[in-house]
Amino acid sequence: MQPRLKPVADQRLASILASFTTRFQQFRQMGLAEPELALYFKERARAAKLTFLADAGHWLGVLADALESQGAAVHFAENAAEARRVILGICQAAGAKSVVKSKSMVCEEVRLNPALEQAGLTVSETDLGEFIIQLAGETPFHILGPALHKDRRQVAELFAEKLGERVSDEPAELTQCARRVLRKRFLEAEVGISGVNIAACQSGTLAVITNEGNGRFCTSLPPVHIAVMGLEKAVPTLADLALIAEYLPRAAIGAPLSSYASWVGGPAALYGGHGPRQSHVVILDNGRSGILASPYWEILLCLRCASCLNHCPVYGLAGGHAYGGIYTGPMGSVLTALLEDQPPADDLPHASSLCGLCREKCPMGIDLPGLLLRLRQESPRPPSGFLPNLAAQVLQSRALFEATCQVARPALAALEMLPRPALPPGPWRGWRQGRSLPQVPGSTLLGSRGKEDGHG
Ligand code: SF4
Repeated sequence: MQPRLKPVADQRLASILASFTTRFQQFRQMGLAEPELALYFKERARAAKLTFLADAGHWLGVLADALESQGAAVHFAENAAEARRVILGICQAAGAKSVVKSKSMVCEEVRLNPALEQAGLTVSETDLGEFIIQLAGETPFHILGPALHKDRRQVAELFAEKLGERVSDEPAELTQCARRVLRKRFLEAEVGISGVNIAACQSGTLAVITNEGNGRFCTSLPPVHIAVMGLEKAVPTLADLALIAEYLPRAAIGAPLSSYASWVGGPAALYGGHGPRQSHVVILDNGRSGILASPYWEILLCLRCASCLNHCPVYGLAGGHAYGGIYTGPMGSVLTALLEDQPPADDLPHASSLCGLCREKCPMGIDLPGLLLRLRQESPRPPSGFLPNLAAQVLQSRALFEATCQVARPALAALEMLPRPALPPGPWRGWRQGRSLPQVPGSTLLGSRGKEDGHG
């Protein structure tokens, strides 16, 4: 199998990637600059999620009871197909013709939009980035900035082609144009669909965190609101929710709070008539129960902050589309391989240098390299290409390995003696200029032990 993760070929895209990943790294650094504060958040956020995961069945029951006591209807969906069926059923029962959505990875995961559109509904993404990629017919490039790979000229061309709007490529003008188009859609939609960033079980509170305010429109303006969440997105208490609502934007964009944080409960009847007349919450499994009972359970701590993507050297070269699924970067390489109904992902765990930066920068301290390594062991990939094949042959044969060491010792020593300007031209020249070659030891650990054990 050919690895799908290759460096982006387009120079423009490569420089956009380098620039936004660097910026996100700086944001995270700013948001969690004080080590004591970072540790405070990490310990408490992990403790809250661990408490929930340790007895997830119980806590989800508490969440469902609390939501139902506020008038919301709770639906458990075992897989993507069931989630699509439930959501479409709610829309049809409401007689809906148009739906507005705020950004939701879990809705992308279940491929909700095509299912609703096939049934004749008009679906409008309302997060600006999602709105742009919906017009372009693409998938998100980055979980925080779905359209980060597009420059403003491309967006202006897209608006002209798909919306018939002739605007300049000034960001303010583009935003105003999207706002004009979307305002009308918000007012017309019969159903608003949102994701859920965090749910507090005891109080039955759902947090929808956005930077554009579109989430608040989707959750409060249409007569029917549907919140869709992965079952791992809950914590026991409202205090836990408030803590993570502060921690998540710090890790994601370096801000102590996001621009908009909506706390959603039941329908309008309980809130003085303000809000939707019907509230539904769809809690999706889609393989998560299996993950919870497996050695990969730690990935369910993920907050989707994107810090691991922004620090990953592979993501930084390949970009989001190379992963072929909805979840990208190191977190995506693990999740795509484990969730149900996802594209084949056998090669994704192999596309990592295992440098460990993702674990270091993950606000939840998830051992992503450990999970990737375990996935690799469960799905070993035969080496492909001349050099990896040769290395595999050598490493599998004691005699070949010893013989290679015999040749390598004097050859590397002789090469190391060569003055740098005398290096032969070729692709290795630049690489060699700043590096010293390793010395091959006189004997290997295995060799000495083998001799001692009498197995040499
Ligand atoms: S694995 Fe960690 S760093 Fe990556 S998105 Fe999840 S919480 Fe953020």
